[in-house]
Amino acid sequence: MNTDMFPNAPIVREIAAAKECVWFNPQLRPAEEALVSIPYTRADVDDAAKRLARFAPYIQRCFPETAADGGLIESPLTEIPHMAEYLRAINPICLPGRMFLKRDSDLAVAGSVKARGGIYEVLKHAETLALEAGLLRETDDYAKLADPEYKAFFSQYEVAVGSTGNLGLSIGIMSAALGFRVTVHMSADARQWKKDLLRSKGVCVMEYDGDYSEAVRQGRALSDADPMSYFVDDENSVDLFMGYAVAAERLERQLAAQGILVDAEHPLFVTIPCGVGGAPGGITFGLKLIYGDNVHVFYVEPVQCPCMLLGLATGLNNKISVQDVGLTGKTHADGLAVGRPSGFVGSVIRELLSGEYTIADYRLYDLMRGLLSTEQIFIEPSSCACLSAPAMLAAAPEMGAYLEAHGLSGCMGNATHVLWATGGRLVPEAVRQEYAQTHLFSTGEPLTASPETNRKRS
Ligand SMILES: *Cc1c(COP(=O)(O)O)cnc(C)c1O
Repeated sequence: MNTDMFPNAPIVREIAAAKECVWFNPQLRPAEEALVSIPYTRADVDDAAKRLARFAPYIQRCFPETAADGGLIESPLTEIPHMAEYLRAINPICLPGRMFLKRDSDLAVAGSVKARGGIYEVLKHAETLALEAGLLRETDDYAKLADPEYKAFFSQYEVAVGSTGNLGLSIGIMSAALGFRVTVHMSADARQWKKDLLRSKGVCVMEYDGDYSEAVRQGRALSDADPMSYFVDDENSVDLFMGYAVAAERLERQLAAQGILVDAEHPLFVTIPCGVGGAPGGITFGLKLIYGDNVHVFYVEPVQCPCMLLGLATGLNNKISVQDVGLTGKTHADGLAVGRPSGFVGSVIRELLSGEYTIADYRLYDLMRGLLSTEQIFIEPSSCACLSAPAMLAAAPEMGAYLEAHGLSGCMGNATHVLWATGGRLVPEAVRQEYAQTHLFSTGEPLTASPETNRKRS
């Protein structure tokens, strides 16, 4: 596809050249106006939150690590002052304000943001089956779902999913715990340890040479042919989306507990790494419902697969892929290795998202080491993309106009930055060591080989 086809979006040329860039969304509208045109409401998020509360006794029984949170799978919000100091020291400019890490990298059960949407969708499916079979009432204590007769009931059914890795982990671990048969269709980008971990839990892992969309296509075809199989459709699932959206009210409580004010003079900037869009999209929707125009949500994607940015900037949504503009779609950020965005998510967040930036792979490892040495917190490379937000945004020529337009020019000193760390806890020690020693060249050859080969070469 010739990038000159998009004269209104000069950013497309930068995207196609795999340059790091910052994009401000010209379609951003006041939250109140944008939200009324979206066919979902606060009630949908509340319904998901209530379902998670019904399942809390079950989660607590199956995963004792969640006992401290009463069976809710939630992550800490940690201020990272030393990392902030480090970022300010190595970048000529950086947005003022306090920096916090939302540590979904430490979420119980699945160790990534996928523990929100992925687990929620599996729980909802299990609930629906058990309710329909007359084996459960909504008022029951769901802890009984861990009893052998329920596992036997669920074992008649299969859950299947296509994944670059982390979604497979969350769907696989949760489904296997309930007793479902599970098949995870993994794209070529999926890291070996994720496949090994799933197989150790009795999950059937199918591997494909192609990318994420290919794994989804093949997985869906197999699942659709089996009436007892349920396919988790990451690209179009409203359930997954609502599971993610619940994160916002949890964050609201955490910010309040730390005494952090969010209003017109105290803006909240949230940056989330984006793959197909489900996780960041759901969180954005939830945050906008709560904070309206006082929250400014940005996504970050790797320079070789900024699929959501491309879909939004061209207006083509899921009708364009990164390969269409000559990008490889290959990245070390395996959790973000998606070439075509969710059309469903793109249409929901189109007027809610403030903007996006892209990041080169080599920075991910440097940021990972920076966070580890300053705060002693490990997060996986994909997650690290969010850490450069205060510097990337500050360096964008249009940032001044954005702040001006939102009446923020004088109050960025009051800003709170939430950097959403999306994965890490389950990464084995040996792989952490390998990451710690991975140094990519900032001006090296483009990443054309698979991440595995590229890592060995570097
Ligand atoms: C899946 C994932 C994301 C992004 O979620 P999408 O729903 O694919 O946009 C970000 N970071 C990590 C580590 C992930 O696994």
